[in-house]
Amino acid sequence: MDTAKRVPAYFGSMVFNEKVMQELLPKDIYKALKKTAEQGSAIDISIANVVANAMKDWALSKGATHFTHWFQPMTGVTAEKHDSFITPEGSAGIIMEFSGKELIKGEPDASSFPSGGLRATFEARGYTAWDPTSYAFIKDKTLCIPTAFCSYTGEGLDKKIPLLRSMDAISKQACRVLKLFGKDVRRVTTTVGAEQEYFLINKEDYAKRRDLIFTGRTLFGAMPPKGQEMEDHYFGSIRPRVKAFMEELDDELWKLGVLSKTEHNEVAPCQHEMAPIFETTNVATDHNQLTMEVMKRVANKHGFVCLLHEKPFEGINGSGKHNNWSLSTDKGENLLEPGSTPHSNAQFILFLTAVIKAVDEYQDLLRISAASAGNDHRLGGSEAPPAIVSMFVGDELEAILDSLVRGIDYTDVEKTMMSIGVSALPPIPKDTTDRNRTSPFAFTGNKFEFRMPGSSFNIACTNFILNTAVAESLRKFADELEAAKNMDAALAELIQRELKNHRQVVFNGNGYSDEWQQAAAQRGLMNLKTTPEALSHYTDEKNVKLFARHGICTATEVQSRTEILLDEYAKTLHIEGLTMLEMLSRQIIPACIAYSNKLAEGVAVKKSIGIDAAEERDMVQQLTEQTAALSKTRAALQKAVDDAPAGNDIQSLQHRAEYYRDTVIPVMQQCRTIADGLESMVDENDWPLPTYGRMLFYV
Ligand code: ADP
Ligand code: MG
Repeated sequence: MDTAKRVPAYFGSMVFNEKVMQELLPKDIYKALKKTAEQGSAIDISIANVVANAMKDWALSKGATHFTHWFQPMTGVTAEKHDSFITPEGSAGIIMEFSGKELIKGEPDASSFPSGGLRATFEARGYTAWDPTSYAFIKDKTLCIPTAFCSYTGEGLDKKIPLLRSMDAISKQACRVLKLFGKDVRRVTTTVGAEQEYFLINKEDYAKRRDLIFTGRTLFGAMPPKGQEMEDHYFGSIRPRVKAFMEELDDELWKLGVLSKTEHNEVAPCQHEMAPIFETTNVATDHNQLTMEVMKRVANKHGFVCLLHEKPFEGINGSGKHNNWSLSTDKGENLLEPGSTPHSNAQFILFLTAVIKAVDEYQDLLRISAASAGNDHRLGGSEAPPAIVSMFVGDELEAILDSLVRGIDYTDVEKTMMSIGVSALPPIPKDTTDRNRTSPFAFTGNKFEFRMPGSSFNIACTNFILNTAVAESLRKFADELEAAKNMDAALAELIQRELKNHRQVVFNGNGYSDEWQQAAAQRGLMNLKTTPEALSHYTDEKNVKLFARHGICTATEVQSRTEILLDEYAKTLHIEGLTMLEMLSRQIIPACIAYSNKLAEGVAVKKSIGIDAAEERDMVQQLTEQTAALSKTRAALQKAVDDAPAGNDIQSLQHRAEYYRDTVIPVMQQCRTIADGLESMVDENDWPLPTYGRMLFYV
């Protein structure tokens, strides 16, 4: 079959989607289900029974034998517990069954998932509840039902609950604002396209590196003669083996209904990217989780390991995840698309202003949404945006915003004078030329691209924060404008005031430069360089109030999320420290000793027959000294890790995270520097680890 027919035929073939539902469900049930999904109301058990039965029959016809509630606990990875459909029947037989009760609610043992201080382990029960806004699908012969995960007292224990709540919050406020523009819109959804970066390396190399196995990144490794300086990898031709991987990845993703669109090489050697077509935020989130999982599985089949860590290799770029975000109405209008008439542009400018205000007022939260031990290696490393949150809007739009602030005419590029006032804005040019890659939050014509999140992140966190912050701007705008007597005048006044107040967050220059660090400080922008520093702001009063006001999460939930993230940070570094110690004691130091012994024996033999081997003698001397230095630093690392403070309350967790950052990381760096120096002195055949050159430039 030609691909024009073949691909559409299997696209979504593993998804219980709209088409399948229409086909398999009685009309009234289908309608009732749609209504539940749209209104977010509770599902009736009689409806659930019919849906479950249809789902099961469909899943069996595709070869599935099990089902699972597929959810996203705070670990960031998706969790599943498989149950088979089998039910005993008669004296010895079985039948395949799946009830409405099993569809709508599951009860995994919640005690082994991180929950901060939310749920004492003795009351381990949590439950998962079907999210009918995301389709069920089949993966590994298992029917997966996308679900939210909460405790019996209703606190969200996962990444999805706040996301769904934030989508409602922003919809509510955006509809209020649109009403002021005479639009009757019932639902505004946020849309997301998450570009996913990743590395592929050979399985045999991976298997020999305990650092990759235990921590996802290399803790040692001298730079090879060539890195990414030739810029020959980005968009370069794709290795045939990688091409085969990408083809199968697309196939697998398409079957799952993931709109995988673009595949290309990235900047670093061995680094690649997949960009999907955007979807509503919670589906995009589920699909991104699936994408990461499928990438790992397909890589394995092709003799690769897919690395999703933010910084697998020092000295070359790490991997991020670009979160492209916009707002669109149920009538399909993209609210961040500049319009062609002055009136529609007033609406556009108002939504743009709402985002600018949100980003400025909640810089800390956006930074927190990209905070992890892994991502700290990227942010600010001249390869990813700095830790300072700022916004790029392009020169033309910036000129328009500036003229709005100053209340003067805007002179466009063609030098045409245009009168300005919100009711008569000039048509806004779509800025497609200037793509500032150094900005963490860039307007790219009809959407924003948030570039801080790390490659391994679950994007739910970024998006619930972004949605809520923008919902808050829109709420304030709606409050003010609804009370106004003259809408046009009030709108003009509001836009001017808000832009003036939040102009500081707009920056079109080079975000990687040192000057920006200073300029940003002068502007009063936050520069939360490390994860512990960022996290210390999560529970700030303004943030807790924000989440509470929009019903996203309670103060207790924010605190528990902070605790989980702090704990995760410390644990990550603890594991990295232990891995380093093990590699030093059992691989690197023994290899150095063995190699210098070998050299020393040679020197002794030469000396005994009267040959002067002064150079070699020097090498032995240096090797011995450096190995001794490494041993000493290793002992210091051991002590640093052993001395880490304990305690589980939020202050202790904060303290511990800071301890790892300030005390453990510097010693780890010292160990690495000495070990990498030794690597370049030891015979390649005697070095116990695959080198960077070998891992990155495989054929
Ligand atoms: P790049 O940033 O690599 O140049 P594009 O600008 O084509 O690529 O798109 C990047 C991503 O933005 C894609 O995943 C695309 O689906 C997504 N995107 C496009 N429009 C929207 C939108 N309205 N809302 C959310 N994401 C969008
Ligand atoms: Mg992009």
